[in-house]
Amino acid sequence: MRLLTTVANQAAAAVEKARLFSKVQRLSVVDDLTQLWNRRHFLEVLEKEWKRAECFNHELALLIIDIDHFKHYNDQNGHLAGDGVLKELARIFKEHVREIDCVGRFGSEEFLVVLPRTSKDGAEVAAEKIRKEVEVHEFPLGEHQPEGKLTVSIGFSCYPEDGEDAAKLIHTADIALYRAKNQGRNRVEGARREDKTEAGLGQHRLTV
Ligand code: GH3
Ligand code: MG
Ligand code: MG
Repeated sequence: MRLLTTVANQAAAAVEKARLFSKVQRLSVVDDLTQLWNRRHFLEVLEKEWKRAECFNHELALLIIDIDHFKHYNDQNGHLAGDGVLKELARIFKEHVREIDCVGRFGSEEFLVVLPRTSKDGAEVAAEKIRKEVEVHEFPLGEHQPEGKLTVSIGFSCYPEDGEDAAKLIHTADIALYRAKNQGRNRVEGARREDKTEAGLGQHRLTV
């Protein structure tokens, strides 16, 4: 009996150790609040997808999504309500992309989506779909936002035309996002040829 108890205790300890290990492993790649891929892991996925696209001569699209007037939402409704919005948005994004697409929380209230084998036109359709889904979704207290609802702006870029590597794709999509914000928010904007030039480089906000 004593022997059995010892063996059982050791087995239980091993199972618990394995459970904790897999939990730690998951925490290292997933953002705790939204359950999306965290920034570090997302960048690894993007790099891998870019290499695949380069190797097999495929296109690849990238979206950067930023919540409009999110500071206002937090100031009006509190940080906890803001966290609820981040969670709800993450659910909407995951629900409205393909299974092979990958969504990450890149920064505080910025999200990235990588769309393998997707053209510029395809990226625009995907981004517009997400923008509309958010626009019609009823977020708690969203009516107090400056435009009467909670919305997002999206910038997108496509490999190879808007950037020859992953970092440049983020860069040009971010410049497009900046343009969407300047043009009134709740908009989708694609990267342009001039975004790759020196003049565009000064405008980006995200750092890779
Ligand atoms: P814009 O339309 O120009 O994007 O305006 P904005 O107010 O959204 O500005 P910005 O993109 O700079 O948003 C930053 C704000 O996001 C600051 C902070 O209030 C909020 N925020 C960032 N991270 C979190 C978070 O983890 N939880 C909550 N609740 N709010 C966050
Ligand atoms: Mg932001
Ligand atoms: Mg914002």
